[in-house]
Amino acid sequence: MSAVMTDALYIRMHDSDNVAIVANDGGLKSGSVFADGLTLVDNVPQGHKVALTDLPKGTAVLRYNVPIGYALRDIPAGSWVHERLLEMPSARTLDNLPIATARPEPMPPLEGYTFEGYRNVDGSVGTRNILAITTTVQCVAGVVDFAVRRIKAELLPRFTNVDDVVGLEHSYGCGVAIDAPDAIIPIRTLRNITLNPNFGGEVMVVSLGCEKLQPERLFPPGVVPVVDKRSNSSQGPDVVCLQSENHVGFMSMIDAIVQTALPHLERLNARRRETVPASALVVGVQCGGSDAFSGVTANPAVGFATDLLVRAGATVMFSETTEVRDGIDQLTARASTPEVAEAMTREMAWYDAYLQKGLVDRSANTTPGNKKGGLSNIVEKAMGSIVKSGTAPISGVLSPGEKLRQKGLMQGLIYAATPASDFICGTLQLAAGMNLHVFTTGRGTPYGLAEVPVIKVATRTDLARRWHDLMDINAGRIADGDASIADVGWELFHLMLEVASGRKKTWAEHWKLHNALVLFNPAPIT
Ligand code: CA
Repeated sequence: MSAVMTDALYIRMHDSDNVAIVANDGGLKSGSVFADGLTLVDNVPQGHKVALTDLPKGTAVLRYNVPIGYALRDIPAGSWVHERLLEMPSARTLDNLPIATARPEPMPPLEGYTFEGYRNVDGSVGTRNILAITTTVQCVAGVVDFAVRRIKAELLPRFTNVDDVVGLEHSYGCGVAIDAPDAIIPIRTLRNITLNPNFGGEVMVVSLGCEKLQPERLFPPGVVPVVDKRSNSSQGPDVVCLQSENHVGFMSMIDAIVQTALPHLERLNARRRETVPASALVVGVQCGGSDAFSGVTANPAVGFATDLLVRAGATVMFSETTEVRDGIDQLTARASTPEVAEAMTREMAWYDAYLQKGLVDRSANTTPGNKKGGLSNIVEKAMGSIVKSGTAPISGVLSPGEKLRQKGLMQGLIYAATPASDFICGTLQLAAGMNLHVFTTGRGTPYGLAEVPVIKVATRTDLARRWHDLMDINAGRIADGDASIADVGWELFHLMLEVASGRKKTWAEHWKLHNALVLFNPAPIT
């Protein structure tokens, strides 16, 4: 056997699986022989599946011990099992799901881990100290952008404890059916992002004046109690209205925004980091640009770190409804109570109906890049996505745009229902109160947010090598045999504490890579 042949490596996820994925960089040629004697009869790209046994037509093709499809014809052992050979199973109905049956062993608490964070009046903790300027409508985005540039150039150098000034710009606010029942989602998302722990409870708003989303609608009385207390005002947040008759000329608007920012910057600048327990972390986990390695390396390492965080008393949110839909039975089984399982089923049913309105289903999720990376369909993708959630019981569920703190859910593993779209999911996790973001990618994405640090985890060494100044952690070492899932999970856990403390910057922060906020608006546009 030649050296090349003995190097041939596949990764099988479960003893019952009848397919495995080719691990080698660049894939393997027909004729390659694996250590167990299996010989490839096709060329198989990296991350794509090989049949471990003969799979007669109709056989359930098992990966993660789950049928990811049925063989459309006889597939001999050693063949490339690509998406055209598989019939996708239909989604499991939401009836008769196992409810809170899993009862995982309680995990031992993990004590003594801390980070340096900014304590807020509401009990939350920031990992960055940022002035956010909320906008009620897209119309004001250009003006706010101009004002933010001036604040950064003229004021920020005086306030060395403030990390950044960010305009919360978005495409919502007018031209929308604001009384439609689902309009509550974009409205509460924007409201709750404004209250993200990284903004220190400082709320200032730029409004146009004639828009549908009036400042009082965005912040009804009592919604920003923290600010009320500090400014001894019962008027709610500071609002600069561009159509106000006081403004004559563009610079009058800019001056008003800059002047309004000043006291907020002064208060933010007076804050100092303090040692806080790791339980103050609120981590949103997400994947994007996934490949077949996502579910083998990066996502299991994130799942390991998720368990560590839960053991440390922290909060971890996993999301992406279309990417968990096919594993709903695993998740309702892991619910800590029947109410949690019911809430999770309700979110799935709502999303099924939402997709159905558009005449599609969850299979609309997979991208050309996913398929090129070896993921045949949404079932296979979902099985790899769910592992980010680790093994802890699921202790709560948030609907899109809801905030953890409002629901009294500030601990443990939470399902925050969101679309899988990277920027929409990130935007909704910000609204939920995320103060740190962990993002895995196999195909590669430069994703980053201005509002919270984003730690990016590569699924393959090849990606980590090429994108060495964009990826923060290389989980591909797991497939290479150079590190275990636990090794990378612990590395990620320690990096999270460093990044949360501001001692380390992520690559996305280094390059200031900031994706737009994209509000999820399932309601009609007018
Ligand atoms: Ca995603």
